[in-house]
Amino acid sequence: MSGFQAPRGMRDLFGADAAAVAAVERAAYAAAEAAGYQRIISPIAEESALFERGIGGSTDVVAKELYRLTPHAEDSTTLALRPEATAGILRAYIQHGMRSAPQPVRLVTVAPFFRHDRPQKGRYRQFTQFNVEAIGDAGPGIDVEVIELGASFLNQLGLTGVEVHFNSVGCSDCRPAYAAALRAHFAPIEGELGEVDRTRLRDNPLRLLDSKDAAVMRRAESAPALPGHLCDACAVHADVVRAGLAVAGVKVIESPRLVRGLDYYNRTAWEYLLPGEEGQQGALGGGGRYDGLAALIGGGPTPAIGFAIGVDRVVHALHDRKIEIRAATQPLTVICGIDEGSIGARIRLASLLRAAGSAARADVTPRKIGKQLEGASRDGAVAVIIVEPDGRYSLRAMIDGKQEEPTDEASVLRAVAALVKRTERRA
Ligand code: AMP
Repeated sequence: MSGFQAPRGMRDLFGADAAAVAAVERAAYAAAEAAGYQRIISPIAEESALFERGIGGSTDVVAKELYRLTPHAEDSTTLALRPEATAGILRAYIQHGMRSAPQPVRLVTVAPFFRHDRPQKGRYRQFTQFNVEAIGDAGPGIDVEVIELGASFLNQLGLTGVEVHFNSVGCSDCRPAYAAALRAHFAPIEGELGEVDRTRLRDNPLRLLDSKDAAVMRRAESAPALPGHLCDACAVHADVVRAGLAVAGVKVIESPRLVRGLDYYNRTAWEYLLPGEEGQQGALGGGGRYDGLAALIGGGPTPAIGFAIGVDRVVHALHDRKIEIRAATQPLTVICGIDEGSIGARIRLASLLRAAGSAARADVTPRKIGKQLEGASRDGAVAVIIVEPDGRYSLRAMIDGKQEEPTDEASVLRAVAALVKRTERRA
């Protein structure tokens, strides 16, 4: 027997857990695609330099959590498993000249990401994110669109009460003065800082607002807030976003020290939080504007904004609240039979039903008919068809036990379609 286990922080999902993740993924694509976002499927690894330059060397995600792959002897670059979506998607936008398409380019992906974090409930080394990116538009309107999209997605899943915490993190014009104010604020506790936080104090004091060190967190509570340091253009942008969200029905909670974990954000930054959750569990997702990222990774100036919502955390939240997300499955037909001679006919009928747009499976086990019917009932089938040894069919409606005997495959298909309609009317 093998003693292998799934890697620490990486899970096998099956049964109800896998179904829940898949259902959230389907709902995410449906919500984004209905709003005009198109799928992008990008590689799970990129050159590690893309993340180092794009996300920032002093962020936890790059400094501590990046999975770098050992390069093969003939390769000149080191690859890393992607810790987030934005840098790779923007790299794709630049590489494929999406700039010449109508702007903004709206993209969506639901995919796995990797961070060498300390695992706990809701924090994994491989996790799934629902990512939305709108690239190529600097105006505040797209900020409102993207923030509302994430909020209404969570709401429609049944996670009502999600809070949208909102801030503006300014731009390269107004941030230096804020960084200086923060540096002055944290300078008195410099001696208490660990090595990483001391480097942050020097190079990137905004990162201190994200620190998990108790002394830094205490000090952060009285840190100067960003909004007071914004330049006029950033302040106006934030006000237009706030006003748009209010009219669109998204209530925001001002969160003046929210900076988010990555360096590339400017102006709009927000998080979707579930109130009353311990630790990180309540952070369902977040996003921000990242107008400067394209230039950092070798593209021309390209304003953009996006969010990431953690699918694993959404699934936990739904589970904790006993909210079932219904998979939009089609009514199932099961085709049974007892003699081996009808196996081919059973499979063929199931395939024809599927080709006609129904869900169908053949029961090809050597079980008694009674057991096959039990299995069909357990799977929630609306119809069971028995292929008799002499090739005749009998069709049973599970909803009321009514039986009929269609004479050929075409009439089986018609009878199933009629039965599905009858069942739907009753439901
Ligand atoms: P971030 O990219 O760090 O802004 O994360 C966005 C969202 O992804 C978070 O709010 C979480 O819901 C989810 N997330 C981030 N890191 C993890 C992780 N290690 N495990 C599970 N979910 C995560």
